[in-house]
Amino acid sequence: MTETTSIPPLRLRQLGDKAVNPDGAYVLHWMTAYRRVGWNFALQRAVDWAVDLNKPLVVFEALRCDYRWASDRLHYFIIQGMADNQRALSASPVSYFPYVEPTRGDGQGLLAELARHSCVVTSDDFPCFFLPRMMRAAARQIPVRFELIDSNGLLPMRAADKVFARAYDFRRFLQRKLRPHLDEFPAPNPLRGVKLPQLAELPESLTLRWPAAPLAKLAATPMDMTRFPIDHSVPAAPIDGGSESATACLRSFVAEKLTRYDERNQPDDDTASGLSPYLHFGHISPHQVFADVTSSAGWNSDDFADTAKGSSSGWWGTSEAVESFLDELITWRELGYNMCWQRDDYDRYESLPDWAQTTLAEHTADRRAYVYGLEEFAQARTHDELWNAAQRQLLREGRIHNYLRMLWGKKILEWSASPREALDVMIELNNKLALDGRNPNSYSGIFWVLGRYDRAWGPERPIFGKIRYMSSENTARKLRVACYLEKYGSNASS
Ligand SMILES: Cc1cc2nc3c(=O)[nH]c(=O)nc-3n(C[C@H](O)[C@H](O)[C@H](O)COP(=O)(O)OP(=O)(O)OC[C@H]3O[C@@H](n4cnc5c(N)ncnc54)[C@H](O)[C@@H]3O)c2cc1C
Repeated sequence: MTETTSIPPLRLRQLGDKAVNPDGAYVLHWMTAYRRVGWNFALQRAVDWAVDLNKPLVVFEALRCDYRWASDRLHYFIIQGMADNQRALSASPVSYFPYVEPTRGDGQGLLAELARHSCVVTSDDFPCFFLPRMMRAAARQIPVRFELIDSNGLLPMRAADKVFARAYDFRRFLQRKLRPHLDEFPAPNPLRGVKLPQLAELPESLTLRWPAAPLAKLAATPMDMTRFPIDHSVPAAPIDGGSESATACLRSFVAEKLTRYDERNQPDDDTASGLSPYLHFGHISPHQVFADVTSSAGWNSDDFADTAKGSSSGWWGTSEAVESFLDELITWRELGYNMCWQRDDYDRYESLPDWAQTTLAEHTADRRAYVYGLEEFAQARTHDELWNAAQRQLLREGRIHNYLRMLWGKKILEWSASPREALDVMIELNNKLALDGRNPNSYSGIFWVLGRYDRAWGPERPIFGKIRYMSSENTARKLRVACYLEKYGSNASS
């Protein structure tokens, strides 16, 4: 038995030191963060093992009901993705086993039981939320070799051994180090041309106790999530989850919006991609996004400028619109992964830079013209119509327009009793309501509001001190918001 692999070794790590069991019945891929079939290093690694050992491959995708912020919104989006995966794997030699936990604790023991019959287990190396903790616990229960694979971004997380304090520094690093990784993409279809023995069925002892989820029924419209012990006050969002919708979203962005991406700050003419929920749940890969965007721009790797010296413009040698999209997708997105991967305290107030903590402390006692608590913020009951509109969009759609999301955070800082309370409110609302919440970028965005990745600004202001300030009046003056206010204002029908 060899350990040949078609994925970059830098993306692979073993948790614990257990050995492969060549007598196991199958290779087990436990799909946790990157819930898709194509462009998936972890699944590709599992396929490598199955071919190597000449064993069947089982893909196990589970949904627990006891994680923080579990709601109809998140459940439905994930279940739609599971239905897509089932369809995508139905004609393949892979056995797909979807499990949706009916009541708290029912799923306990399932992974260990599946792993007990396996040769080797692969899963995703996601650096945030409850997943790192869950993986450490799983490693204790899995009796065979257990590997985690990093499919997070274009730069493998282990390619950088320091935390970057500013996007500029990270971009400079990427301009020097990213190029070779652009030649190491996951296979668009890791099962193409692969011949594997097929598993007749999973042991009955297992499927009787943990029956496969009836996905066609669960993913149907209208949905019925009432049977699950999750938060039913957060309704499903009006966009569909899953790799099929993700690919459609990418195609329509590339065809209709990409050339106008520069205008994305205009709330009335939103030209951003809308891809963040799909990226978060792993329904689409950043590699696929990169490949489609650069091929539509006629880009080739010779255009990559490793001399760009930290500037976002001129790096990719393509149009301004494409350059700025790639800068968000790569520099800004992967900056957050870099942080979460290396610092366990990424979600703690104390992880803010010293200058930000100092200036916020100096202004904590400043008089606030308005002070709201979590419930008033949550119900969009502030004095500010534009802020309320942004919060209503979050409540209804699970997203906030890109630019207004920054304003949303800055006002929570301004109208909370203290910066620490503001942090708690932002984390709670963002992670509970946003489809793309609970992600490294959630913490990048929320902590950016409080000074992370930013510099000190003048003049020094009440409450904010030297933290960058934003005002609703300026935003409304600078941007076109009339349609946005009509759509999400207090008089709009929901
Ligand atoms: C207070 C606050 C909270 C935020 N919470 C989240 C969150 O929970 N999840 C999340 O993915 N992003 C978050 N962001 C970052 C950003 O707002 C979203 O990534 C972006 O709005 C997603 O929309 P899009 O997919 O249309 O982005 P596009 O503009 O089309 O960008 C493409 C992709 O690039 C990445 N990206 C874009 N802007 C940023 C950014 N500023 N920082 C990091 N990555 C970026 C995202 O993965 C995005 O999907 C937050 C920002 C703020 C200010």
